[in-house]
Amino acid sequence: MTGWVKIAGLGPGCEDQITPEVNYALSQSTDVIGYNAYIARIKSRDGLTLHASDNRVELERAKEALKIAADGGKVVVVSSGDPGVFAMASAIFEAVEKGPLEWRNLQIDVLPGITAMLAAAARVGAPLGHDFCAINLSDNLKPWSMIEKRIRLAVEGDFAMGFYNPRSKARPDQFGIALSILRQICGKNTPIIFAHAVSTPFEKIQISNVKAALPEMADMRTVVLVGTSRTRLIDRAGQTPYVYTPRSWLI
Ligand code: SAH
Repeated sequence: MTGWVKIAGLGPGCEDQITPEVNYALSQSTDVIGYNAYIARIKSRDGLTLHASDNRVELERAKEALKIAADGGKVVVVSSGDPGVFAMASAIFEAVEKGPLEWRNLQIDVLPGITAMLAAAARVGAPLGHDFCAINLSDNLKPWSMIEKRIRLAVEGDFAMGFYNPRSKARPDQFGIALSILRQICGKNTPIIFAHAVSTPFEKIQISNVKAALPEMADMRTVVLVGTSRTRLIDRAGQTPYVYTPRSWLI
């Protein structure tokens, strides 16, 4: 029996936003590996072993997946959103690079998913309609000084931005620093969108601007979208406005 590893994105939360390709891989698997909260989204069945682990053990989890596949298992490694966006795909390839040579012969496929910032953007209109970037605000794996530098340069380049991992109990204050940088260097009316638990029953979307935004509007289940100098709101009486960034920078 030949094992394989498929690194799959489960999308932002709702079943409808899981791709058929990912559902098919899950149906063919013998083992599913991932963080507890993502494993909780997988239906158990005969012949399937679920391996749930803690959040901070990505490399251990990657090695476990590769070992099981090398022994003939059909392993799906799950992430939320897209597995290549601040998630397990890089961890798997890092483990392959550092691991035994035989792991390089394993069949490894990355199955894309809908990442949080795209799901959030779709809820409000088209705020990412021009050039944009994604920045992880967690300084667990990089220095905070680099995060500040990337925010400043992205604003200088007039990119729209998606902030992942904006604020946690362990990092309660840094998001406030990020907001104060934005207040210094963005136009004060630059739209900022707080999208919490997109596509789940707990979804909450707040549309604000850089001047009025408060750190408490974000938590670990929030992705924050910051507009460009051209991003605008279309007001609709009594209804949530649409937010969009024009296709052309020239208008
Ligand atoms: N691979 C994931 C990102 C993992 S990092 C993806 O592509 O979406 C975890 C961060 O993603 C969270 O802190 C939050 O910023 C964001 N996130 C994930 N799911 C979300 C959702 N349903 N709604 C809002 N933000 C989400």
